[in-house]
Amino acid sequence: MNRYILGIDLGGTNTIAGIVNNNGEIMAEFSFKTSDYNSPSLLMEAIYCSYLQFSEKKGVNVSGVGIGAPNGNFYRGTIEFAPNLNWGNYIPIATITEAFFKVPVKVINDANAAAIGEKHFGCARDMTNFVVLTLGTGLGSGIYVNNQILTGKNGFAGEFGHTKCLEINRKCTCGLESCLETVVSARGIKQTYEELYLKHYQRMPENTSVIQIHELAKQGDKLALETYTYTANVLAHGIANLVMLFDLEAVVLFGGIAHAHPIIIPVIKEELNKLVLPVFRNKVSILPSSLLDKNAAVLGSAALFF
Ligand SMILES: [Zn+2]
Repeated sequence: MNRYILGIDLGGTNTIAGIVNNNGEIMAEFSFKTSDYNSPSLLMEAIYCSYLQFSEKKGVNVSGVGIGAPNGNFYRGTIEFAPNLNWGNYIPIATITEAFFKVPVKVINDANAAAIGEKHFGCARDMTNFVVLTLGTGLGSGIYVNNQILTGKNGFAGEFGHTKCLEINRKCTCGLESCLETVVSARGIKQTYEELYLKHYQRMPENTSVIQIHELAKQGDKLALETYTYTANVLAHGIANLVMLFDLEAVVLFGGIAHAHPIIIPVIKEELNKLVLPVFRNKVSILPSSLLDKNAAVLGSAALFF
């Protein structure tokens, strides 16, 4: 018998809610612009209304709501100190959601949700030790060790984007310096390209977005390719640390920047073999997510109940 769960990917820019069945099929999807809502209750009310319309029309009822959110706390059902949400430092999102849906609610951080999605419905189905990296506005990670998602003492394990690389001289949006995501993120790629462009042409490029830089790289543009090579090199150093800490079988790349995988994966693979101990060489797969065009965070949030 089919069971339905509402999976919510709550992001700083967009929020997507999907009704997911136990086969990982998204039956319906609703999108919201997060900043249009002045409080989490207003957003949840809008999600509930969309769900209710669908539910009444199709006779589908969800038995749980899973939420993946930046700094989502699995233990407390809260969102804490999320840099891109302007609803206060502690958002009791599970309590707010339960008041509307009257079903159990589970909360997890967005990168962990992506990893759970990959484990249940994606390319990591048969894996027990792997990391999903979410390459987007920032850099997150969901870590599976010995077939269990790593949550840590407070539920915040996996802040890979804020691990340090001393060679990086950039200030991070978190307020600290030398964080990996100052290079390996949309913002980082843009900055690297601008720096290379300035050095080469003695002027700044005009309004270049990461999508444009990716297009340029695909066309063989030298500076765009150099940007991705540098990004992939820095990322390989971070991945080498993960491999040696957790003895991984795979690293799965997810998020907008992962669409550049034909350019970055060969560089990461080559670099990684130079950086890890002989026992780890040629043993780690670097893969694009098999859910790249689906919403892994929606699937993963729902999978909290499967
Ligand atoms: Zn940081």
